[in-house]
Amino acid sequence: MDLDLAKRIINELSEKDMTRSIDFHLMGEPMLHPHYAELATYVHEKGLNAVLYTNCTLLNKKNISKLVSIPLSGMVLSVQSSNAGAFINRRARNINFEDYIKGVESFVHSWINSRNRTPLSIYYMTGLQDNSPGKELIKNRQECIDILSYWRDFLHKIDPDSVEKYHFLPKVNLNNLWSQYMIYPGISVFFKYCHTWDGQMLPAGYQVRPNSRGICKEIIDRIKMSSFAILWNGETTYCCSDYDGSLELGNVSGRSIEDVYFGDKASHIRDMAEKEKIVHPTCQSCRGRVYDIKSGKKVSDYKNWNSLLLAGFGYYKAYGVYATLKKAWFYIRK
Ligand code: SF4
Repeated sequence: MDLDLAKRIINELSEKDMTRSIDFHLMGEPMLHPHYAELATYVHEKGLNAVLYTNCTLLNKKNISKLVSIPLSGMVLSVQSSNAGAFINRRARNINFEDYIKGVESFVHSWINSRNRTPLSIYYMTGLQDNSPGKELIKNRQECIDILSYWRDFLHKIDPDSVEKYHFLPKVNLNNLWSQYMIYPGISVFFKYCHTWDGQMLPAGYQVRPNSRGICKEIIDRIKMSSFAILWNGETTYCCSDYDGSLELGNVSGRSIEDVYFGDKASHIRDMAEKEKIVHPTCQSCRGRVYDIKSGKKVSDYKNWNSLLLAGFGYYKAYGVYATLKKAWFYIRK
């Protein structure tokens, strides 16, 4: 994104108090931008939080020293692969798994030495659902425990006193993946479900059947706040799943964000979403149901009943009884 456009966007968001946080990611690597550090600092100067997600392929000396010194409010190391086999699926052309992990370790080491207190989260992807692409993804609890032990041993070599405060490894519950496992003050590990970018990257043998009814918390979420995404060229959409910007809500290169957000197209999608109607084909596919083509059977979003109940409980804690019942109703209908 052009530097002037990026600064204009940040200015507007800050002046009109439209958000508290700007996340630097959208299916892209922020460190590819020549001014990412300057922009993150600018976000901070404008009184907003900057959160940076990186795929970690560019964690070289120069970037590491920038990253530990800029005022970020959060950082995510999107490692995802726990082994060389899974790493192949990332199709990183210029780096092998060993060098990749060395870059991640080197960053974590510098982060601790710099006494930077930006919360750091290391993401790993699991392959627990039937339709997970990539057989080498994490499949069981022991593999998660091995990852936590690996990081614990690594951190122990750097700062044994702090690591010993966490004298036991956190318990891993694969039925409830939406938890951060703290391994060091300010550092956590997060095991996530392998997602298919809302049905757009399904492995062979599966298909999605679109749905025109549903709930989307990215479009409307009064409790946790909905999202709004601006792509590199100024085009806008509601979420990071629509990484190509197919919703085409409007381009902020020539218009204000406010104008686009309250414009006809974005307002119509929001108004319909209020009535649980999903109008755009990308969204209908996202809210659709995945089927195994051969057997014709639906693929569950959840590993088992236990994980479904835990997810329901998490939703209830965040949104209350009425919203949970509504969500459950949509899930049953799907
Ligand atoms: S693609 Fe549409 S329905 Fe899916 S999360 Fe994004 S905005 Fe919501």
